[in-house]
Amino acid sequence: MLYIQYLRVKLILMPRKKRCPVCNKTDQVIPIIYGFPDESLFIKADKGEVILGGCVIVENNPEWYCKRDDKRF
Ligand SMILES: [Zn+2]
Repeated sequence: MLYIQYLRVKLILMPRKKRCPVCNKTDQVIPIIYGFPDESLFIKADKGEVILGGCVIVENNPEWYCKRDDKRF
């Protein structure tokens, strides 16, 4: 439960979008969220607002995804 709250806080506090290193734009960049997602995250993922990164959290996990270039960074 605590982790779900952490995920929510993380989403709210998510820094401004990073620029995609390929297209150098931010319009198609969405955050990658790690951990066990709750229902609201599944809905956001369905809408293409976030990518679910899975439960394996390692250092230097990519935090952003560009839909235009299919690029994680
Ligand atoms: Zn891109």
